[in-house]
Amino acid sequence: DTTTPWHYTNAAAVAGALPVRPKFSHKGTFGHALLLAGSRGKMGAAVLAAGACLRSGVGLLTAHIPGCGYDIFQTSQPEAMCLTDAKADFISELPKLDGYQAVGIGPGLGQDAASLAVLRQLLKAAAKPTAKTGKPLPLVIDADALNLLGQHRELLKLLPENTVLTPHPKEFERLTEPARDDYHRLDLLRDFAVQHHCLVVLKGACTCLATPEGELHFNNTGNPGMATGGSGDVLTGILLALRAHAQLSPFEAVRLGVYAHGRAGDLAATHSGQAGLVAGDIVRHIGPALKEWE
Ligand code: AMP
Ligand code: MG
Repeated sequence: DTTTPWHYTNAAAVAGALPVRPKFSHKGTFGHALLLAGSRGKMGAAVLAAGACLRSGVGLLTAHIPGCGYDIFQTSQPEAMCLTDAKADFISELPKLDGYQAVGIGPGLGQDAASLAVLRQLLKAAAKPTAKTGKPLPLVIDADALNLLGQHRELLKLLPENTVLTPHPKEFERLTEPARDDYHRLDLLRDFAVQHHCLVVLKGACTCLATPEGELHFNNTGNPGMATGGSGDVLTGILLALRAHAQLSPFEAVRLGVYAHGRAGDLAATHSGQAGLVAGDIVRHIGPALKEWE
């Protein structure tokens, strides 16, 4: 479709996009994020997303995880706080949402019916304008939370405006329909973002961000070394931190987050090479990537 405005996210587009941290700031200044992630056998996704969130400038992070993940999580992410679900193997309860500036859900979640109920409750609760901002609670939805949405599409109506969804092409197909080709997929992407008033990050070699206004923004960072398990969980953590940031608009947060994720991956590949790159390397290079804005 030649009428769609296409944009490119390069270094110039995101120059100056990360606000300077004021000298008299404190951890409350940068937001408290809540992450709902993990299930038995997939706690690594929660650990990676949490690590990425912490490395992306968030003030505080609390993770709600299944009971089996407690030791794993607390040991690997000592900077995060941790709430454990009553269930050992998956998430079945929505914690209280007071005091959080953004919520992320999905990495390693699994698709249990109880987790679906939690997702439904979260969408309903987040849609209510918060006292502080008068806007819905910012959400980042990824991975199995997207797959649950795809299986229960009536839930799409509940998505609060400016919710961030981060599907790879297969997850996006589950939310919509099989695309005839890449151009058709972009049409579906734009239409979905407009219809649901969401920011949709269609992930891949040239990640495309669709806005509720129907713009498409193509990202120019990242490399094939990032085609490895956990890379997407890292992106979720970055976006969660930036959506909790009071000074970034929803669009600015997501455009910057996608760019910085790719940049961290590029720095990681410079260090370990593409074949040897693992998602944890991306987490470890978020700091050096974001330092380029300081
Ligand atoms: P996921 O499939 O959820 O683990 O997400 C994979 C992440 O890695 C996304 O952010 C993709 O944009 C990124 N990625 C995967 N393959 C490539 C590639 N060939 N070039 C650049 N980025 C990639
Ligand atoms: Mg993923």
